[in-house]
Amino acid sequence: MSQQIQYPEGGQKITVGSDGRLQVPDNPIIGYVEGDGIGPDINRACMRIWDAAVEKAYGGRRKIHWAELFMGEKAAALYDGDYFPDETKAALRDVLISIKGPLTTPVGGGFRSLNVSLRQELDLYACVRPVRHYAGVPSPLQRPEDIDVVIFRENTEDVYAGIEYQAGSADNEKVARFLREEMGEEFFDGAGLGVKPISPFGTKRLVRKAIEYAIEHDRESVTLVHKGNIMKYTEGAFRTWGYEVAREEFPDRTITEEELYATYGGKRPEGKIVIKDRIADIMFQLMLLRPNEFDVLATMNLNGDYLSDAIAAEVGGVGIAPGANMSDNVAVFEATHGTAPKYANQDKVNPGSLLFSGVMLLEHIGWSEAADLIRAAYEKVVGAGIVTYDFARSLQGATEVKTSQFADALIDQM
Ligand code: NAD
Repeated sequence: MSQQIQYPEGGQKITVGSDGRLQVPDNPIIGYVEGDGIGPDINRACMRIWDAAVEKAYGGRRKIHWAELFMGEKAAALYDGDYFPDETKAALRDVLISIKGPLTTPVGGGFRSLNVSLRQELDLYACVRPVRHYAGVPSPLQRPEDIDVVIFRENTEDVYAGIEYQAGSADNEKVARFLREEMGEEFFDGAGLGVKPISPFGTKRLVRKAIEYAIEHDRESVTLVHKGNIMKYTEGAFRTWGYEVAREEFPDRTITEEELYATYGGKRPEGKIVIKDRIADIMFQLMLLRPNEFDVLATMNLNGDYLSDAIAAEVGGVGIAPGANMSDNVAVFEATHGTAPKYANQDKVNPGSLLFSGVMLLEHIGWSEAADLIRAAYEKVVGAGIVTYDFARSLQGATEVKTSQFADALIDQM
């Protein structure tokens, strides 16, 4: 195996304790993948901000030791055309916590998206996307401050599982014959066919993670989003298994919405998390009309894909929406936008998405003082109208700055 990764001296690896919790030293090694296109621009700016926040919050007592890991074009250049080398896969598992910029999906037959490969290789089954509003960020809503949700999207199942049969293929005919002759199903000739697997295992590990997050972060509710009225045995089952995991594994910490009204007169008892569910299409409306009724959302793959981008657009768009993909112990935080190749190396784009993914990372490892410093400085800078080109377009009287100048302004405010 080609060896390109160098672990920084003086850093120590994060481990998982016997209680299943992360053990984070004061000098943790954290992996980073610079990313393609605008990746290097935003990564450079963000690292300065993260490091400054940690330095300021802990007075030098704590420091992240960054280890560069390689994926995408930079990896292909170093590892003889390999876009996702084995060394990187092993390192992502080994360091447990990493952050990555956007990656180009090479165009051409048979090339899987690197992001999809990453999720599958490491079984990163939960895509976590917190969406909230920051004062000063342009939004089409009248009260964008009412949005403060964390979406847990299942990452491995559903119609995205890749079980599909192309119209006209021999496999398609075989499946179509089985469905018609053995199962008595009816559908038009020549239909492409896909399978939508939703399992209790896949559902429960996702909903469990959402409930654990709600408990740890003092959230009030977890909403199961589904279309179970139509797809009873997949989306409906997600709802059933979601309630089941709450009831069986968190009986002392959760109540259902039904119990909230029947037993507690609509007043949530201190420390209890309300488990509720909503039909997916209504959820889109509710996030526009009454977003303050929602907190943590648990969704299947497809619904979550649509819903997370739609909610992100309500409070500033994907340019600032952060995210992470997680398994039980491994977490890869990432910018949610793409490589925006036409802006590469211009020091121009908004570093917000990667920046707030790093804020999530800091919270994940328990360094919330540093995370808070970045959030507060961000609101001051954007509130003063100092923004990159994308926000400058929709903010009157804004001062447009470069990515690096935005980082300077933020560091000055800490
Ligand atoms: P994109 O997100 O790269 O760009 C779409 C547009 O969004 C850009 O033209 C730009 O106007 C804007 N934009 C994106 N990021 C911005 C930022 N930080 N600040 C300001 N404006 C920003 O999407 P695309 O053009 O569809 O994809 C380009 C490449 O990125 C493709 O190769 C695609 O596969 C890849 N991609 C990667 C990821 C990922 O790594 N997570 C996600 C999406 C797309």
